[in-house]
Amino acid sequence: MAPAIPQTFSTFNIPPTRRHVETIDFLLARPSLELLPEALRPAARGFLSYLATLPTSAPHECPACASRSIALATPAGTHGSRRDGYYCRDCNKRFNILSGTPLRLLRSEEKWKPWMSYRYQGFSQELIAAFLGISNKASMTWSRAFMAAMADYDTQLHRWWEDHQSTHISELTDEAERALEACVATLTELAVLTDRHCPYRGSSSTQVLTSRRATEYQCHGCERRYNNLTETPLSHIQHMELWPEYLRLLVVGYHDTEIGERLGLSKSLTNLWRQRFLEFMQARWPLLVHWTLWQWSRRRVSVPSGPQT
Ligand SMILES: [Zn+2]
Ligand SMILES: [Zn+2]
Repeated sequence: MAPAIPQTFSTFNIPPTRRHVETIDFLLARPSLELLPEALRPAARGFLSYLATLPTSAPHECPACASRSIALATPAGTHGSRRDGYYCRDCNKRFNILSGTPLRLLRSEEKWKPWMSYRYQGFSQELIAAFLGISNKASMTWSRAFMAAMADYDTQLHRWWEDHQSTHISELTDEAERALEACVATLTELAVLTDRHCPYRGSSSTQVLTSRRATEYQCHGCERRYNNLTETPLSHIQHMELWPEYLRLLVVGYHDTEIGERLGLSKSLTNLWRQRFLEFMQARWPLLVHWTLWQWSRRRVSVPSGPQT
């Protein structure tokens, strides 16, 4: 009998929404910044603390003329103002720490860092809005403002991040690429393995019955028959020769319809395969599942939801 598909991935056809509690728990367990290349993580971390500390820090220069001859004019609280107001002795302009930055019109600054942190974890704007109790519209505005602030903060981080927010397929990080290679290698081994122990009681005394695809065995202990895929998420999944290509397409973010067209799989098969392969990857290569879910939600906007011809 095929193992039951865990709830985690069996219930969503589009990226997780608030209904998909278990999938969201899985995403929340993702180590922060894991999706980013290692080389960019310090900058990403720095950007988080920039968002956290900027609103309460003091300016060094006038945003209009860059003069350093500035002075505090109106402390926060004066006439109900939320921030310290400064003036420039050279150009006489008044400003605060956010003047001239992409963040100047945003409110709820205590939520800026959590917003960006969830974003790094791969959550959609809508989900983050729900987590933080802000409107979808605010979440979209923040997204644009933070992208612009990131561009000012670190060009490389911004370039990578922007590329991975766009709707085209973008490259895996080296880390994800290595995980994908290891996963494909394991799939390949499954095809050629000829000494699998009994998955029911673990008896090592077995007899190989056939050596076709997914070698079949009989256990001397419990006498049950099994093959290389029995009691794994991939039991009864056919077309082994397509698995490596399927896996790559899934992880980099192709949707069921696109994959179905490329590999000649029906809609019900691509649906089943997605659930089973996510489950297969989850145990040993959770990063690949994180990538898949992230890329899926990122590319959702470009993919028509209805049937395509
Ligand atoms: Zn000035
Ligand atoms: Zn057995």
